Amino acid sequence: MGIDRREFIRIAGLSTLLGLGGKGAFELLAPGRVEAEIIPAPGSMQAKRWAMVINQKKLDDATAQKCAAACHRVHNVPDFINPPDDKLKLAPEVAHRHQIKWLWTEHYHNTFPGEEQPHLSEKVEHMNFMVLCNHCANPPCVRVCPTKATFQREDGIVMMDMHRCIGCRFCMAGCPFGARSFNWRDPRPYVKETFPGYPTREIGVVEKCTFCAERLAQGLQPACVEASRGAMIFGDLEDEKSQVREYLRTYFTIRRKAHLGTNPQVYYIV
Ligand code: SF4
Ligand code: SF4
Repeated sequence: MGIDRREFIRIAGLSTLLGLGGKGAFELLAPGRVEAEIIPAPGSMQAKRWAMVINQKKLDDATAQKCAAACHRVHNVPDFINPPDDKLKLAPEVAHRHQIKWLWTEHYHNTFPGEEQPHLSEKVEHMNFMVLCNHCANPPCVRVCPTKATFQREDGIVMMDMHRCIGCRFCMAGCPFGARSFNWRDPRPYVKETFPGYPTREIGVVEKCTFCAERLAQGLQPACVEASRGAMIFGDLEDEKSQVREYLRTYFTIRRKAHLGTNPQVYYIV
């Protein structure tokens, strides 16, 4: 049996939200209270500012697919393109339009639009880049959300509270990275095998990567990092001894649309 929302909040470090029962948090909590009540659980991974480095030199397409599959499996992300049951088959254009994505790949020009270099190496130009929510330090999605369903933790992770989400999609319009997906249909029948450690969602809410906040709370690395065989590094940007800082010191890195000023916390070694 899957965990309920209350259990999820507890293991994600929001452990003092007692008495949620069957109701949504939005009905019970004043905006801002969720952030105020975050208490890290013993044994959890903690940082002042979480950041990720993706080493594209080590990330081949097969590994990228494994990372995305690991992420989508442990977060019950539905698959509209290859549904678990033939009866659920959707027209391909509908399946692609409704697809939910937390972690996926894009070509160089879609990943770094406007960063065209006249004599870019052919290898980089044809590379598939792993993309996800950048957990921007200055996130426009958080600013535009009218209900605080999307909010930023002190450690920089941009979270989603599905029970507060009213599906207005302002955050999707505000995110310049296309990192958010909207549930246009009930996603549950399209989840291949429900993973008991994470809640499923319902129609009408937005979702995205949370840097595996629920795994960090259990002392585990994000699922994609674990599956990446060293191609993805995760750590504390504020800790100069962290591996993330070591990589940033050692390698030349780029970020997506840095000129927009959202301050993405995902760095790419190309
Ligand atoms: S990538 Fe998009 S969804 Fe993620 S924090 Fe930045 S603006 Fe928000
Ligand atoms: S769709 Fe949900 S998370 Fe996005 S802005 Fe609206 S209420 Fe906030």
